[in-house]
Amino acid sequence: MQNVRRVVIAGGGTAGWMAAAALSKTLGKVIDLTLVESDEIATVGVGEATIPTMITFHNLLELSEPEFMAATQATFKLGISFENWRDVNQDYIHSFGTTGTDHWSAGFQHFWRKGVAHGLASDYGDYCRELKASLLDRFAHLPDNGMNYAYHLDAGLYARYLRKFSEPLGCKRIEGKIVQVNTNPANGYISSLTMADGSQIEGDLFIDCSGFRGLLIGQTLGVEYEDWSQWLLCDSALAVQTASTSALPPLTRAIAHGSGWQWRIPLQHRVGNGLVYSSKHMDDETAHQTLMGNLAGEPLMNPRPIRFTPGQRVQTWRKNCVAIGLSSGFLEPIESTSIHMIQRSLIRLLQVFPANGPLCQSDIDEFNTQAATEVHHIRDFIIAHYKITNRRDTQFWRDCAALEVPPSLRHRIDLFRESGKVFKAAHELFAENSWIQVMLGQGILPERYHPIADRMGEQELAYFLNNIKSSVSTLANQLPSHAEYIQRYCRAQPL
Ligand SMILES: Cc1cc2nc3c(=O)[nH]c(=O)nc-3n(C[C@H](O)[C@H](O)[C@H](O)COP(=O)(O)OP(=O)(O)OC[C@H]3O[C@@H](n4cnc5c(N)ncnc54)[C@H](O)[C@@H]3O)c2cc1C
Repeated sequence: MQNVRRVVIAGGGTAGWMAAAALSKTLGKVIDLTLVESDEIATVGVGEATIPTMITFHNLLELSEPEFMAATQATFKLGISFENWRDVNQDYIHSFGTTGTDHWSAGFQHFWRKGVAHGLASDYGDYCRELKASLLDRFAHLPDNGMNYAYHLDAGLYARYLRKFSEPLGCKRIEGKIVQVNTNPANGYISSLTMADGSQIEGDLFIDCSGFRGLLIGQTLGVEYEDWSQWLLCDSALAVQTASTSALPPLTRAIAHGSGWQWRIPLQHRVGNGLVYSSKHMDDETAHQTLMGNLAGEPLMNPRPIRFTPGQRVQTWRKNCVAIGLSSGFLEPIESTSIHMIQRSLIRLLQVFPANGPLCQSDIDEFNTQAATEVHHIRDFIIAHYKITNRRDTQFWRDCAALEVPPSLRHRIDLFRESGKVFKAAHELFAENSWIQVMLGQGILPERYHPIADRMGEQELAYFLNNIKSSVSTLANQLPSHAEYIQRYCRAQPL
């Protein structure tokens, strides 16, 4: 084992180029960085909705936001509109940002719940600035990070943009197909990649960004894949791009159908669409018809099929190989979490990067423990969207309602249903407000509220709730339209 100096990234999709950008920016002067990608092997070509943590990643890279947005035809995203999820024709929004004002001992939901019991409260979303703005198709940056947002972006353009960023910082790009991954017989570590032209690329640390193939982590090192399809029934997707329509909502739309759901992601130059479905409940032909029959604009291509197994590698770092992106596992895109997990893996890798020495097993173990904890929480959050529903209209939804969920999720659901309480765990991505919006939105109204809410009399509570609601509404109505804001702030050139 030698010092980590030569780092090789295998794959140039979103994961590969995000890795290249993060490593070249932070360690470009002290490591030799090479990225290998093949023009023959396409990237997955989807992954266009993000969550607010992407802003942190871009701050690390010191990117200019308007420049990045113009280069990737990006728009702003204030949340996800869940349509037909609680039941057919019943919608809600999971928005970024906070709802109402919390008391230290009890969250806003307890005051709101008392308000509901006394006929004083309206929709939970009426107390959230981002949610109201999204319903009005409005957006603006506000002082003190007063507007929480993420982006919709063109994944292909994003990889290209990060390539332009990384190469001048020292990342060497090699185009070609990896035909063999060679290991050191003494310790099983990866020693080099053999390319189709016979050349060898040697390295000390390899980052597997080869997508679903898992060329290094799975095919070479044999790290097993934990299959979570007993909880997540969807295993297929069809993706298609359509021409822009006049609407530019700052929202991802997630529209539930009989055996899955459809996404609609508005970009400046086009709309990304797709259907995620369970192949056991819907055949591919019906999926095709469902997607094509529910498009808002002209299709720009034939739909592309994608098969996947929901789950995660039992270790995402083994020996001298770290899997980042689809090679490490995949959870369906309902909450746009995959790009976030890429950036979390990169930050974690940077935090435990070996200091002037060889790899330490304790660093690898820490990395794997943190990664597993994080993904288990995200998995539970995603399962909650399917488990908590009043839909029983198809076999798919009946099977979802009957799921035996992991005990960690069972506890959360019971805690919220019985007392309205929600607690964020350590290393958990989704905070209290996300869980509350989704559990309420999917159909749980807590049976009780915290007694602290009874310290407010009815009059005081009505004043408290109305005050928040009217300031949210006034602010949202003063914002410019999302489309206007994009024009002024980050307008992209036509492609
Ligand atoms: C249906 C669907 C919808 C999604 N939606 C979202 C979303 O809205 N938000 C989100 O955050 N994420 C989403 N994701 C996940 C997101 O697409 C991925 O996390 C992201 O694109 C990263 O992919 P990747 O770089 O790991 O793999 P890929 O894009 O597949 O890239 C693999 C790379 O490896 C290279 N490669 C492979 N084999 C070889 C070889 N032998 N030699 C040389 N090079 C090789 C390829 O050329 C390519 O460059 C979605 C995924 C799916 C399936």
